[in-house]
Amino acid sequence: MKNNSNKIQKINKILIDHFGIPKRQNPLPNPLDTFVATILSQNTNDNNSYKAFNNLKNAFSSWEEVAKAKRSTIERLIKVAGLAPAKSKAIKNLLVKLQNNSPKLSLDFLQEFSNEEAINQLTEFNGVGVKTASCVLLFSLNRDVCPVDTHVHRVLNRLGIVKTKTPEKTFWQINQNFPNGIAHSFHTNLILLGREICTPTKPKCKICPLQKICNYQEKNFEDKSSSAKKRILLLDNIGI
Ligand code: SF4
Repeated sequence: MKNNSNKIQKINKILIDHFGIPKRQNPLPNPLDTFVATILSQNTNDNNSYKAFNNLKNAFSSWEEVAKAKRSTIERLIKVAGLAPAKSKAIKNLLVKLQNNSPKLSLDFLQEFSNEEAINQLTEFNGVGVKTASCVLLFSLNRDVCPVDTHVHRVLNRLGIVKTKTPEKTFWQINQNFPNGIAHSFHTNLILLGREICTPTKPKCKICPLQKICNYQEKNFEDKSSSAKKRILLLDNIGI
């Protein structure tokens, strides 16, 4: 990964020139908010998970209240995000387990742990994977950790930064020695690139700012149009 560190920094700079420096919330969101929002974001778009998150926050005054609620009530409130039975189970399980340790629900204890220890702690919860855990570390604890979703995984493989079969393998490879201070911009702008330009099929290589340093053998130069999708990034917009 040492060789890749320079390439990651170069990509980060090119993406900032293209997309700008992504905005962050100030102060950073509560880790528990990020944790629940990331669970809600699985297999859906940010618009729907944002609605589901707000439904929960508007219906209850605290996560302690959500912990006391029936799972079926949580399921109804988050239905818009899809997979509501599994997500409501994961959220309820998480909150109840946390409450077993302390009546006041919080993930602030994670501050004491290293990145790897914190990820291990969070993935102990049922239904919580490395991507969810790493989002908590980046978006709420401001760690030098780059979460890997399907977009980040696909783009990093096409660029030649990794050669991996799964997002989890990509995550562990790029985070062995991730450069300081750029994880948020790198992660966020790679997602924008993956959504708008380096799409799963027919990537728009003609307009891609990374074209010159990309190793992908099947570049597509046919489609010149750039779809101007509305940019809503869930984890930089919760708790506002
Ligand atoms: S050049 Fe094409 S394949 Fe490579 S990152 Fe850009 S859009 Fe993706």
